[in-house]
Amino acid sequence: MAERPQVTVLGSLNMDISVTVPRLPGPGATVVGGAARFTPGGKGANQAVAAARLGAEVRMVGCVGDDEFGRRLLAALRAEGINADAVRVAANTPTGLAMIAVDEGGENLITVAPGANHQVAAPDVAAAAATERDILVVSAEIPIPAITLVLADAHKAGAHGAPCVLNLAPAPETPAKETAADLVAAAGANLDWLVVNESEAAAILGHAVSGLAAAAKAAAELTARGRPGPRHAVVTAGAAGAALAGSDGTHVIDGFPVHAVDTVGAGDTFVGALAVALAAGVSAPDAVRAAAAAGAAAVTRQGAQTAMPRPADVLAATGMAWPVA
Ligand code: ADP
Repeated sequence: MAERPQVTVLGSLNMDISVTVPRLPGPGATVVGGAARFTPGGKGANQAVAAARLGAEVRMVGCVGDDEFGRRLLAALRAEGINADAVRVAANTPTGLAMIAVDEGGENLITVAPGANHQVAAPDVAAAAATERDILVVSAEIPIPAITLVLADAHKAGAHGAPCVLNLAPAPETPAKETAADLVAAAGANLDWLVVNESEAAAILGHAVSGLAAAAKAAAELTARGRPGPRHAVVTAGAAGAALAGSDGTHVIDGFPVHAVDTVGAGDTFVGALAVALAAGVSAPDAVRAAAAAGAAAVTRQGAQTAMPRPADVLAATGMAWPVA
C-alpha cells in the first residue's frame, strides 16, 4: 500500500455541550431545553478528524485539561486512529468547552470557554514542528502568539519546511493587539496557504465579502497582503463554493448542489480535506475542488465530527471520487 499522506494539526479541542431549546434565551431569561448532548469538537480536533476519515495519517497537537472531558476528547481522537500523543494535558486548567443552544429553526447561540486551548504555547509549536510530515494545519482558536510563532518558524524553515495551511478562523477580533490583517501581513512569503470564509476574509481586508465573485476578488487581494503575501489564498463561500488565488491566477470552484441539513463543521471539513489532498500531491485547483466536495458532503448530515465524510460519502453526495487513495 502507498504511504498515507501525513498531516499534523495544531489547534483547539473542545467538548461541545448542545441543548435544543424552543427559543433562544434573551438576557436574564431561562429556557428549558431537551437533554444535553456531549460531542467532541473544537476547530483543530474537527480538522484532524476530517483529515483522518479521508485517508491521512494524522497527528494532533494542542492542550486539554486534566479532567474527564479531556480524557474523553483524547479517547475520541484515538478512536479515529489519530495520534494524540502530542496533546498536552495542562494542569489546573479545564478542558475547552463550547456551550451551544440551538432553537427549532436551527439558529444557535454559542459560548466558548477556551480553557486549556489558551495554554497552547512555544512547547506545542515545537512539538508540531518536531516530526517530519507533509503538511501542517493551524487554526485560530489558540493564542495569537502561538500562531505568530508557527508563522515565524515557517519563515525560518523556508522552502525546506513542510507547507503550512493557516485557517484564520475565527478571525482575531479587533481591538486585539494583533489583528487578522497584521497576522497575514507578518506571515510573509512562507505562508503557503491561507484559508478563510467570507466573514473572516472581510475582517482581514476591511470590506464586505459576499458571494463567489467577491470571494474570488478577495482571494486575489489576500495573496497581495504581506511582502509578499501567502502563496495561495482560499475564500470559502458556503453553498456557492470556494475561490482560490495563486501564482497561476484565480480559480472559482462552484459549490456542489446537495441537500443541506446542518452546515456546522463545513469549514473544518473543507480545511481537513484540503490538507489531505495537498499532502498527497494533488494540484492546488483540484485539491480545492476535492475540499469543496468534502464540505458539501459534510452538510448533508447532522453534527460536526459525526457528519465528516469518508471517501464513499463524498462520492455518494457529490458524484466526485475522492482523489486520495
Ligand atoms: P464555514 O463553515 O467556515 O463558514 P463555509 O460555510 O464557507 O465555511 O463552507 C466551507 C465549504 O463547504 C464551502 O466552500 C463549500 O465548498 C462547502 N459547503 C458549505 N455549505 C454548503 C452547502 N450548503 N452546499 C454545498 N456545499 C457547502
